[in-house]
Amino acid sequence: MKKLVILGAGTAGTMVANKLSHVLNRDEWKITIVDQAETHYYQPGFLFIPFGIYGENDVIKPKRDFMPPGIEMIVSEIEVVEPEQNRVRLVKDNRILNYDYLIIATGTHPRPGQTPGLTDGEWRKSIHDFYTYEGAVALAKYLRTWEGGRLVLNIAEIPFKCPVAPLEFLFLADWHFTMLGMRDKVDLTLVTPLPGAFTKPRATKLLSAILEEKNIKVVPEFMVERVDPEQKLLISYEEEEIPYDLLVTVPVNMGAEYIERSGLGDELNHVPVDKHTFLSTEYDNIFALGDAANLPTSKAGSVAHFASEVFIENFVRYIDGLEMTEKFDGHANCYIESGFGKGILIDFNYDVEPLPGKFPLPGIGPFSLLQESEMNHWGKMMFRWIYWNVLLKGKEMPIPANMTMAGKWA
Ligand SMILES: Cc1cc2nc3c(=O)[nH]c(=O)nc-3n(C[C@H](O)[C@H](O)[C@H](O)COP(=O)(O)OP(=O)(O)OC[C@H]3O[C@@H](n4cnc5c(N)ncnc54)[C@H](O)[C@@H]3O)c2cc1C
Repeated sequence: MKKLVILGAGTAGTMVANKLSHVLNRDEWKITIVDQAETHYYQPGFLFIPFGIYGENDVIKPKRDFMPPGIEMIVSEIEVVEPEQNRVRLVKDNRILNYDYLIIATGTHPRPGQTPGLTDGEWRKSIHDFYTYEGAVALAKYLRTWEGGRLVLNIAEIPFKCPVAPLEFLFLADWHFTMLGMRDKVDLTLVTPLPGAFTKPRATKLLSAILEEKNIKVVPEFMVERVDPEQKLLISYEEEEIPYDLLVTVPVNMGAEYIERSGLGDELNHVPVDKHTFLSTEYDNIFALGDAANLPTSKAGSVAHFASEVFIENFVRYIDGLEMTEKFDGHANCYIESGFGKGILIDFNYDVEPLPGKFPLPGIGPFSLLQESEMNHWGKMMFRWIYWNVLLKGKEMPIPANMTMAGKWA
């Protein structure tokens, strides 16, 4: 039996396990998937928790409900990968897993401890996050009695997963406080290391106009060095200070610690891979998928989904000694909730920035690209159902893995 080990049963790992269970001959392959937790989180849903739109049942389900039959699932933290020996050491029972092929899909995760002052005393009091389930729930509780003031949203470092989520949080905050009749008591500011609201110029132009229209200030190119939780100050490497009453942080995002212990990562523990095939730049039997890889595109579930389709096509050739002919183009597709029942959709890849147009049917839509619409909001809300019922189970979506120019106005 050939052995395939998948590390991480999140979005990418679960999708790939399901797809592989259909294409690999089960008499020849043993597939094992390892994750530290039994719980699967629908992370895009964390955005809605602070505003009381989603609760626990919307974002949490058991991982085992999504595992295909015949795949071994082990719940354990990963101690280390020993790539020269083709084996993984697990924390639980010091178990050793040998592999012929390894897929790393352990994602990227918030590390608030990387920014001095962030977790000292005021964490989950006047300093909150919404990139974890616990953080989003604590923030929801805090906002229920918050009387207003300066709400500063700070992005600590790039790259971070879902680069539009901080903007969506601010758009929803504007809507939420307006609905509560207290928008005039709340000052909303985005403090970001980026030169503007987003990474791509055309989308930045549109998003900046919406931020301005909603009276949300932007402080660009701010590299936070530390937080003074007593004075409630955000302080940059240039000693610029920004006062806040409520700090919502998007902490430094880093890959799992075992990646560092295994010598497999860059300085943020993301695994260097070929951006078209996801094959490790160091080892010819290791792939990294989803947020764990250092791909130069958004760290997003949509990217994990499109990438997994390209990966499967290539993997079945690769194990037969054939060339990997499919080339992933960095396709990302993100609904941006913009508040008041509207949303924006962006579709882009490594080379083409978000363009206006219609998606997925050229000229018809029903979704509008780079434009606000109610239909886009419904696309975002429908996505949760699609995630749990179609994507995670590895079922096909009628959308090509690589980006198409059809329907886009260049
Ligand atoms: C607030 C928020 C909003 C988002 N909104 C969107 C959106 O609108 N659209 C979109 O496309 N994407 C969105 N995303 C991003 C999306 O959720 C991620 O990009 C996606 O989940 C990445 O999948 P992954 O499999 O790479 O990582 P994950 O889904 O994070 O899975 C990683 C898995 O590895 C496991 N693991 C980690 N370390 C270890 C270890 N040491 N030992 C054992 N197991 C380990 C974890 O338990 C986890 O199950 C959002 C994310 C957040 C936080």
